Amino acid sequence: MDSMTLVHLGIDSTDSLTEGMCTTYLGAVLAGRALHAGAVFVDYPNLIRLNPNIPYKTRGNGAVVLRLEVPDSQVQTIVEYAEETVEKLAVFSDPQANPGIAVLTGKVPDLLHHFYERALHRLLTVEEAYTTAEKVGAVLKGYKNKRGVIGALAGVGEPLLHDHTYELLVYRKRENWGRERHVNGESIKKMDKTIEDAFFNYDYEENTVCIAPHTVCPVLAGIRGESAESVLKGFSMADLGEETEEYVIYRTNQHTSFHFEKVTAVGEIEDYSSVIVEGTVSGNPVIIRGGHVFFELENRGVIRCAAFEPTKRFRDIVRRLRVGDTVRAYGGCNRGGENRVKTINLERLDVLTVTHHVYSNPVCPMCGKSMSSEGKGKGFQCKRCKTRKQEKELTEIGREISPGSYEPPPSAWRHLYKMLGRTRTNQGSSPFIENWIKIKDSQ
Ligand code: ATP
Repeated sequence: MDSMTLVHLGIDSTDSLTEGMCTTYLGAVLAGRALHAGAVFVDYPNLIRLNPNIPYKTRGNGAVVLRLEVPDSQVQTIVEYAEETVEKLAVFSDPQANPGIAVLTGKVPDLLHHFYERALHRLLTVEEAYTTAEKVGAVLKGYKNKRGVIGALAGVGEPLLHDHTYELLVYRKRENWGRERHVNGESIKKMDKTIEDAFFNYDYEENTVCIAPHTVCPVLAGIRGESAESVLKGFSMADLGEETEEYVIYRTNQHTSFHFEKVTAVGEIEDYSSVIVEGTVSGNPVIIRGGHVFFELENRGVIRCAAFEPTKRFRDIVRRLRVGDTVRAYGGCNRGGENRVKTINLERLDVLTVTHHVYSNPVCPMCGKSMSSEGKGKGFQCKRCKTRKQEKELTEIGREISPGSYEPPPSAWRHLYKMLGRTRTNQGSSPFIENWIKIKDSQ
């Protein structure tokens, strides 16, 4: 009799923002086919999010990984299924879709996990993926410019041994792809309040449903939570506004904040990384057209921090900062350069200390008016009575901000962001629950 081989299949970059499809759907179809062929899943399908700051992503930079036990003689058949499914469903006409498949057998080596960590924090090349694959004995298949092999291989490298969450993705019937969604908000609020372990369902601040995308893709909704049970229960309670036939539960690194790296100085911040950095506010916030708020942060180097318009009321906190306050900023960075200011796109802000005094032009002791500067180092003079003073004065200011942790409303959260309300860390994989997948065999 055949012995069994552990096979990891990673897939990425199959979809198009304008023409639809979703790598998770392709993964679900492939999972259905593999189950039908007798493969034994050793884990829920994995949805692995990678660096959210890279320029190539279509949406959330996610790769899909299936981990299966397959009779030795069937390994090649499963790999062929993966290729056939990609070739049938990927949107090859979109320049952004450059599908990649990675196949590894056996245990995930540390070197591959290291590649995943780099794919979470840096911008990598296709060549690096091929070099790593050769070292760990993985086989890659890349289509078009082959970029998808980066995410496919990196996804395989994250077996989610530490923190993880779950997302149940519900797919629309084909005839509804591209049509407007009509998810019933009241049912989602009720579900959110009833199921403690399901999260990120409803944004009460912005009064909007968070489980449904606005794209033309096959996903109708994604229900997120701490356990497979919670997301399946959430699905049973949600009125999604149309008949559905297919869904799958993914185990994922979403909402773990694995994307953040702590740095001790602004000068250490790498292009495209997501960082946690402490520093002193060195430039008061400015609001620009479009409603974006920026301030400068200093810690052995200066960097701009931004609360963009979609972060809504979070901007009210950011705009109350003043020079001298100390903060811990969390967020993703773009690439700095000659014509580009390197900026942290804030995902969270911890206000550590708030200053209650500022140095300002002295007030004339005779007239009570603010004195004018006479030029750099030349002191100050009262315009009216000509009284002079040499130094600025420390004055007390009222503040409308206190130390604490602040975050944008849910609709602005990134997939990887661990929200303040999520205090758990889930260890290891949990056993399969019944009905973790429902997918038509005929695809
Ligand atoms: P979706 O979330 O809908 O699946 P997406 O945002 O994942 O879409 P992709 O079409 O997968 O978008 O595009 C991301 C591309 O970037 C893929 O080709 C992937 O292999 C590649 N990629 C992922 N991480 C990195 C990285 N760190 N450096 C360079 N390329 C990367």
